[in-house]
Amino acid sequence: MTELTHLTIEDALKGLKNKDFSAKELAEAHIEAMEGARDLNAFIVETPEIALKQAEESDKRYASGDEGLLDGIPFANKDLFCTEGTQTTAASKILEGFVPQYTSTVGQNLADAGAVMLGKANLDQFAMGSSNTTSAFGNVINPWKTSDGKDLVPGGSSGGSAAAVAARISMGATATDTGGSIRQPASFCGISGIKPTYGRCSRWGVVAFSSSLDHPGPLARTVKDNALMLQAMAGYDPKDSTSANKPVPDYAAAMTGDMKGMKIGIPKEYRLDGMPEEIQKLWDQGAEWLKEAGAEIVDISLPHTKYALPAYYIIAPAEASSNLARYDGVKYGHRSKDAETLAEMYAKTRAEGFGDEVQRRIMIGAYVLSAGYYDAYYIKAQKIRRLILNDFEKAYETVDAILTPTAPSAAFPIGENEDDPIKMYLNDVFTVTANLAGVPGMSVPAGLDANGLPLGLQILGKAWDEETVFKVGGVIEEAAQFNAMPQKVMSKAA
Ligand code: GLN
Repeated sequence: MTELTHLTIEDALKGLKNKDFSAKELAEAHIEAMEGARDLNAFIVETPEIALKQAEESDKRYASGDEGLLDGIPFANKDLFCTEGTQTTAASKILEGFVPQYTSTVGQNLADAGAVMLGKANLDQFAMGSSNTTSAFGNVINPWKTSDGKDLVPGGSSGGSAAAVAARISMGATATDTGGSIRQPASFCGISGIKPTYGRCSRWGVVAFSSSLDHPGPLARTVKDNALMLQAMAGYDPKDSTSANKPVPDYAAAMTGDMKGMKIGIPKEYRLDGMPEEIQKLWDQGAEWLKEAGAEIVDISLPHTKYALPAYYIIAPAEASSNLARYDGVKYGHRSKDAETLAEMYAKTRAEGFGDEVQRRIMIGAYVLSAGYYDAYYIKAQKIRRLILNDFEKAYETVDAILTPTAPSAAFPIGENEDDPIKMYLNDVFTVTANLAGVPGMSVPAGLDANGLPLGLQILGKAWDEETVFKVGGVIEEAAQFNAMPQKVMSKAA
């Protein structure tokens, strides 16, 4: 029998229904994998006791035939999602010791579907980063290695979630995507992930980074598994004022593989100067796969693409500087011990509690929002955001979905780009547009680069049309037959 930790969610659900194994056995196998892979540092807190308790309850539901959509499926919960009774840190010292009194809506939806929480996954601090090196709890290590065994970043910010899923520690994971944090780590770790339409998954109980750009969503190894995860996570939530009151379609059912009559756009502005040739080739290959499946490939233009990154790095820090004002040493977590006055307590708490990248964002955000600069930066960025949305809406008058690479490189060594924030920000060049426009985007592993590292292709869709994204993603997955596995898992399975 396949090792339990290597099953897809789809197959694990079948096995559980057939009573081939119990939810408890499934949980135990994953707990063992989690404990055996601590060198990846994918978790900030492990919660094996919660997992076992939930698994036992799941087994009871299977026994009585009233199991939920994801009953018994172990998942990693990004440590940005509040969990009642379990520490939630956003990977920042400022929240160390913060134990929420409530569970995020998305986390609750997963629990209601019967999913089993293995632990709180490591991430970039407050989800700011593309490499998971800004966590106050140490870097996450990508289970994929260079041929000479060097450690690589898992991408960010959902690096712990992605590494756990890729290393077969967890079947799925929660994640958030503000500028690419689901899709880029999926690409770097050789798994799939979808950022749904803004408003599809509730943000309630998710530590806010940039409220108008934050999108909760899933990570899993297959496109179908993402469909199952998102099905459970999504839905209207009156507690989030930007949550949409729309029915959630049957995502797995949308994966028909039928591309007939479909038009897929290839945006010329995503052909960057200096992009590695193998990424360009993989992109062409992806278009070819879709064509072979019956789609028509159409060249399109998204003319404001080049302004997306600068606009994102104004809007996201602006909102962050406002959202993060609440961490003042009074209400949550860390409080400086050596302050004499109230003002000093605020200042020292924030200086001690926030990491460098978070402080950089707060300063940029405060600057672009300050009188005198507000119009020149913030308002201008908002105008660009509208133009980017217009670009997508215009393109979607002719095409059903858009195909691009997910990231301009494969996973890079830990430490690279560290002293050069601008270079780090360039990682998000293909992903931030969908956050600014609020449209859905998925990354599917499509091939390996010359060093044997995974590369993803991105499928962008119309607002509320995740179904087409799943359909196209399923076709890419089927054609790519990506079944390479990271070294960390291979050595364990051998
Ligand atoms: N890398 C981007 C940033 O640092 C996006 C992060 C995210 O999507 N949370 O802001």
